[in-house]
Amino acid sequence: MKSIDCRELLRLVEIVSDSKAILIGRSFTIDGFAQRLVRVVTHAHSDHVLGLKDSIMYSNYIVATPATHELLYTLGYIGGANYRRLYEFKKIEMNYYEKREFDDETIILLPTTHILGSAQVLIDTDGYRIGYTSDFKLGDNTVYIKQPDILVIEATYGHPVYRRRFKHDVPDLLIDLINEGFKRYGRVVIYGYHGKLQEVMRIIREKGVEEPFILTKKIYAITQIAEKYGWRIGNYYLSTSREAKEIICSKQKHIFFDHMVKAKYRRIDGSVLNIVLSGHEYNEPVKKIDEYTWLAALSDHADFDELIEYIENSQPRIIVVDGSREGYPHIFAQELRRLGWNAVVLPFKRNG
Ligand SMILES: [Zn+2]
Repeated sequence: MKSIDCRELLRLVEIVSDSKAILIGRSFTIDGFAQRLVRVVTHAHSDHVLGLKDSIMYSNYIVATPATHELLYTLGYIGGANYRRLYEFKKIEMNYYEKREFDDETIILLPTTHILGSAQVLIDTDGYRIGYTSDFKLGDNTVYIKQPDILVIEATYGHPVYRRRFKHDVPDLLIDLINEGFKRYGRVVIYGYHGKLQEVMRIIREKGVEEPFILTKKIYAITQIAEKYGWRIGNYYLSTSREAKEIICSKQKHIFFDHMVKAKYRRIDGSVLNIVLSGHEYNEPVKKIDEYTWLAALSDHADFDELIEYIENSQPRIIVVDGSREGYPHIFAQELRRLGWNAVVLPFKRNG
C-alpha cells in the first residue's frame, strides 16, 4: 500500500476557500469552479452550484445525475441561451454506479440521502481511491464509500453538541400536526426549501395521508421531476389550476406547500395551521412558534453521531474535512483525531 505524505495528499485533494471547489486528481473540480477538464455537481443546492456558469464556459464536461441536471435547469442555475447551448453540449448524465473515464482517471457517482438527485463521488487516480460524501445524512439511500485512501467529508454538524436524539420521531409528530391542522382549519401550509419540500411530501404519503397537495409553480415543477425519478407523491395540483381552486372553494382538506422565503408572510388569523421545516433545531422535534405555527426539525444533514457512524463504516485511511463550507470542520477534525483517525481540514487555516 502506498504511503500518503502531506505533499502527496495535496496533489490528490485540494479545497479552494474562495471558490469552494473540491479538486480531486488531475481532472475533476467538484461543487465549485476551477480550470479543470470535468466539473461535477453533486446536488442542486446553491453552495454546491457555485461558479457553474464559469465551468460551463471552461470545462469540457459537466457531470451530474440526470435528476440533478433537471433541477439545475428548473432552478435557473444554467443562465441564458448562450450558456444553455454550451451546457447542453457539455452535460454528461451519470446514473449511480455508472463508471466513466476521463484522462486515465475514473469517476463513479454513488447514492446518498440528502435531496433529490444527490450523489457522492468516488474517483480513482493513480491507484488511489478518493471519496467525497458531499452533503448527506444516513438513510435508505446512503451507501458507505468503503476503505478509500482519502475520504472528503462535510462537517455541517461536526460539533458534538449537535445530536438529534429525537430524529426518528419527527415524521410521526409531523403527521400528528397535520391531522390537528385538518381538524381545526381543514388547511395546512408547509414552508420549506426546494428539495426538502418534496422529501416531506414523500414522507406524508408514506404515512398514509392522501389529501391533495396544492403547489406553487416552481415547487410543482420540482415535484414532477421527483416523480419522474421514482418518488411516489401523487394527488398534487398547481395552485392556479381549476382543480386547486375547486379544492379550496369547496373547503376540502388539503396541504399547501410554499417556499421558506414566504414563511414570514404566513397567515396567523386562525384560518390555517402553518408548519415551517427547519434543519437547525436541536432541542425539540417540533416546537410551537405562535398560536398557529409550528417548527418541525427535519434536517438534510448528518448530525454528529451520523458523521462518526459514516466514518466507522467507511474506514478511510485519511479523512479530509471540508472547511470551505458552513459547519464545524476544525472541531470535527479534532474529535476525529481524538478517536484515533488521521484527519485534516482543507483548506489549511490562513494565518491572521
Ligand atoms: Zn446540500
